[in-house]
Amino acid sequence: MSDFNQEVDMSEMFKVPEQLRAKAHVKSMEEYRAMYKASIEDPETFWGDMAREFHWETPFTKVGPTFNFDRAKGPVHMSWFDGGKTNLAYNCLDRNIEKGLGDRMAIHYECNDMDDQHASFTYTQVLELVCKFANALKAEGVTKGDRVSIYLPMTVELPAAMLACARIGAVHSVVFGGFSADALAGRIVDAQSKVVITADGVMRATKPVQLKSITDKACELAELQGFKVERVVCVGRLKGTPYADQVKHDWVEGRDVWCNDFIGSQPATCGVEWVASEDPLFMLYTSGSTGRPKGVLHTTAGYMLGTFATMKYVFDYQMEDTFFCTADCGWITGHSYITYGPMLNGATQVLFEGVPTHPEVDRFWKICAKYKVTTFYTAPTAIRALMKSGEEPVTRNDLSSLRLLGSVGEPINPEAWKWYHRVVGGGRCAIADTYWQTETGSHLLAPLVGAVDCKPGSACFPFFGVEVAILDDKGVELEGECSGSLVLRRPPPSMMRSLYGDHQRFEEAYFSQFNGYYFTGDGCKRDKDGYYWLTGRMDDVINVSGHRIGTAEVESALVAFPNVAEAAVVGFPHDIKGEGIYCYVTLNEGEEYDDALKPKLKQQVREMIGAFATPDEIHWAPGLPKTRSGKIMRRVLRKIALPDYLTQDLGDTSTLADPSVVDVLKANHPRAA
Ligand code: ATP
Ligand code: MG
Repeated sequence: MSDFNQEVDMSEMFKVPEQLRAKAHVKSMEEYRAMYKASIEDPETFWGDMAREFHWETPFTKVGPTFNFDRAKGPVHMSWFDGGKTNLAYNCLDRNIEKGLGDRMAIHYECNDMDDQHASFTYTQVLELVCKFANALKAEGVTKGDRVSIYLPMTVELPAAMLACARIGAVHSVVFGGFSADALAGRIVDAQSKVVITADGVMRATKPVQLKSITDKACELAELQGFKVERVVCVGRLKGTPYADQVKHDWVEGRDVWCNDFIGSQPATCGVEWVASEDPLFMLYTSGSTGRPKGVLHTTAGYMLGTFATMKYVFDYQMEDTFFCTADCGWITGHSYITYGPMLNGATQVLFEGVPTHPEVDRFWKICAKYKVTTFYTAPTAIRALMKSGEEPVTRNDLSSLRLLGSVGEPINPEAWKWYHRVVGGGRCAIADTYWQTETGSHLLAPLVGAVDCKPGSACFPFFGVEVAILDDKGVELEGECSGSLVLRRPPPSMMRSLYGDHQRFEEAYFSQFNGYYFTGDGCKRDKDGYYWLTGRMDDVINVSGHRIGTAEVESALVAFPNVAEAAVVGFPHDIKGEGIYCYVTLNEGEEYDDALKPKLKQQVREMIGAFATPDEIHWAPGLPKTRSGKIMRRVLRKIALPDYLTQDLGDTSTLADPSVVDVLKANHPRAA
């Protein structure tokens, strides 16, 4: 295609590290291809055999997938493992303990402060905590199918509360602890959760987060919307610590209970509620990058297989590994690669409460050195932020235990990929760029690190059971080297089943664009070697004089410039070209901005992509508007790029982490002069 040669170097190849291949579950491309083929052509055997590693109280009668993606043929639906009954918490905990892993470390809890009381929990200890929680919820009257909202910091109570819900068949709805009272109230009301589990507060770096007082406010707001929260369970995270007086909250008699009192007298064993394969496990809202957040609904058995299999094969999980995923359990990454995927594999992992920059910018690396982490999983936004402070904070720590680095959340620029590989990975680690969504529950595209040579910036190939296609604007499947909309032809096991309480919106949001396909919303290229490259959201593709340019490509070119730490690119209406290219640019720590940079940056993009992609406008951005999960909110940037930016309505910005960056951008505006 015409827009295909404007490329960051797509031929650059990083070979599988041989020491990794030697032990890997999948050791060659041939092996990967054979397994992939089996997963698609004979799911009955491939997924059926894998599923039988788990405990089924009632065996499934059919593997699946049973599904309809074509609205013309009736409602969209999908199911896996029909007829089966199982339980996620049982398979994460009891099953591993029966296998002899009871004394194995499950979770190393690392607190915000370096000198706080970090603690480690074995599988047996996690099970006991989960059972106490589960018994307490049952005593509260919570039964199968009831929703429980969880608004907790990253302490061990968070995954434990999730697993407790799973154990009794309740549906958890975790709300990230950075959300406002408004956002929390909306999610409580939407889920109709009578029970909310929160904490008095938590320190993030040196700032207290008032979780309980925000919960109090959210309960009031919910009540105004006609919904009454009956029980608020409060974990005393700061109670009795030197920070206790930093948090202020009310106490509603009859409604509020301290977690210790709630679970304290409960027995440490609890029977299991066996649930059907398609019974709901949890609901979780998307991050809101593109609009009003969607309450994604996941079910039991398929999600179990998807998270288990990707943890095992993409992260090439081995018994001696120590896994560290830096995501919060408030996001899908924390659900799938903290609470469920690692525990299903019997893994040892680090659960980190704090932030990467506290007390200093090397906290992640200190943690890796402390626990001898082998597998580290983070987001490009974190990598770029840490790149700003240079190499020394990384290299002053002993990172020799690392063997595998993961990335998720956004396209990773080749520049950041290579820094991650060279500086963090010491040039010897594999990198798994994992592309997936809240909706898909587990990885869609990712290299199997023992088998696949990587190209920096490419998420490589589809995972087992994932059948992708790239469509043109008319919905026709493209072959070979191509670029278009990324869709799924069939549901992988861990696919979402609906939007909670709104199946209509579910069909419209994902199945109305292309008949018979699930539309990811993302643009994608396939190169001549069959590697997949995410080019950004489809609505982020800019059409300049008939050339379709992915915003991710222009951003990568800008970030490759020495002074640039981060860039965000959007389109704006242009009289002659149709759309013009508008670039927001953040400089490295300590760099002064100067207008003389503008022509240099434009030249950089011309050289790396082509003259037709030359930026029209460069806007210096000391900070970018990001969602609380760290993604750039381009829809806000598109509005600020307009000539009448001062009078634009910026839409739903409730998931913005720091609203004040918007004012700074307006004050810096190149159109203001
Ligand atoms: P919303 O759907 O509410 O706009 P969101 O899409 O940001 O929010 P998530 O489900 O957390 O919510 O993010 C999934 C999206 O993140 C993907 O659709 C894709 O755009 C992007 N993404 C995730 N991982 C990668 C990756 N490795 N490479 C490229 N893009 C990625
Ligand atoms: Mg999305």
